[in-house]
Amino acid sequence: MNVYDSERMADVLRPLGYATTDTAEGADFVILNTCHIREKAAEKVYSELGKLREMREKRVAKGGNGMTIAVAGCVAQAEGEEIMRRQPAVDLVVGPQAYHQLPELLTRTARARGERIGADFAPNEKFDALPVTRGTEGVTAFLTVQEGCDKFCTFCVVPYTRGAEWSRPVKAVLEEARALAGRGVREITLLGQNVNAYDGEGPDGKPFTLAKLAYALAEIEGIDRIRYTTSHPNDMSDDLIAAHADLQTLMPYLHLPVQAGSDRILRLMNRKHGRQKYFDLIDRIREARPDIAISGDFIVGFPGENDRDFEDTLDLVRRVNYASAFSFIYSPRPGTPAATMAAHVPEEVAKERLYALQALLSEQQVAFNQSLAGRVLPVLFEKKGRHDQQAIGRSPYLQSVHVEGGDHLIGQIANVEILSGKQNSLSGKLIQS
Ligand code: SAH
Ligand code: SF4
Repeated sequence: MNVYDSERMADVLRPLGYATTDTAEGADFVILNTCHIREKAAEKVYSELGKLREMREKRVAKGGNGMTIAVAGCVAQAEGEEIMRRQPAVDLVVGPQAYHQLPELLTRTARARGERIGADFAPNEKFDALPVTRGTEGVTAFLTVQEGCDKFCTFCVVPYTRGAEWSRPVKAVLEEARALAGRGVREITLLGQNVNAYDGEGPDGKPFTLAKLAYALAEIEGIDRIRYTTSHPNDMSDDLIAAHADLQTLMPYLHLPVQAGSDRILRLMNRKHGRQKYFDLIDRIREARPDIAISGDFIVGFPGENDRDFEDTLDLVRRVNYASAFSFIYSPRPGTPAATMAAHVPEEVAKERLYALQALLSEQQVAFNQSLAGRVLPVLFEKKGRHDQQAIGRSPYLQSVHVEGGDHLIGQIANVEILSGKQNSLSGKLIQS
């Protein structure tokens, strides 16, 4: 979502004459778009800010222009005033629901440096104020359809930094998707912290489900592939599962985080579902779409997690068999209920569990990738590879696919015979048709 947000910030600043650059070095305006989900991500912001300040001082000492420094995203939302205190070089702080106000904030900052404005929640205003046209390059694009979260998992800051669940109206989503298709985008990934809780207003004033939205998007000329992320198990509705069976545009890949395999920990996490419910759900999804690749997120070392709980997580992973997954050591986030829970798991124990879990997940990922050898898959080619005439695309299961002699196919979908599967990618050869 931060990638999407950063693109949209560039969109609102473009009319002011700003263009994006690859390095901060010569920039007039630098925005750090931040993440607050784990402590490490939040702390990185301060070290980056230190570097930017030095860069600016050097430039000014050489007689060059100053540089406006902004912090955006969820760290800005959660720690606005503290950022200003800890790093006075910051000129402005803008929360994730206010980046449409960047042009105005920039202008004001020029006069009165150091204001903190725009960290209140009003996502509808933001989306209404954003330009419909986007400066996206490439054949795949993100499209935010839902923001915020009402679930309040005890470890998570999202409900506090992104606010309550809110869905964009169908009309606005379709307009943006049409504009993207018009620019050559073939694959859209619908984004939301709880994307499958989508209930945006449809044309008749009644809410659409995510499945209905997917059907409507599939009608758009040029949109050949639809993905969505991230889903919560409790919002995996029957019509969405059914859509996986009959909507070919919907890619056979589902990111469905479970976080832990122990019912006791799931309860402490306030996930509102147990392991059996997750297994049943996975069964129903696989019945609808047998080849679907499942991915997930895991947290190890949640307060009170013991060896048996962790064994339950490993057992769940073995039973589900993931195509890919992210896993993290629990990071206490200020203000969340879990941060004050007793029974802290020692760092070494958490690390050991993380390594064991990652070894298992990585084994499953390699096995899944290797299992595709010999299959013919439609690949959407996105960019040139490192070798001459090599092209890199995506399989329906989201792996990168490397193909020699495919560079004329960028922007197109072509059939590829998979030759081998590695840890993070597949390689294949073009099937001439
Ligand atoms: N809405 C999604 C997840 C959003 S956050 C869901 O419900 O699954 C992305 C991932 O970050 C989470 O799935 C979780 O695995 C991880 N995460 C969130 N808070 C964390 C914390 N305090 N410590 C470690 N990992 C965390
Ligand atoms: Fe965070 Fe996801 Fe839980 Fe919401 S559902 S609180 S975003 S982990």
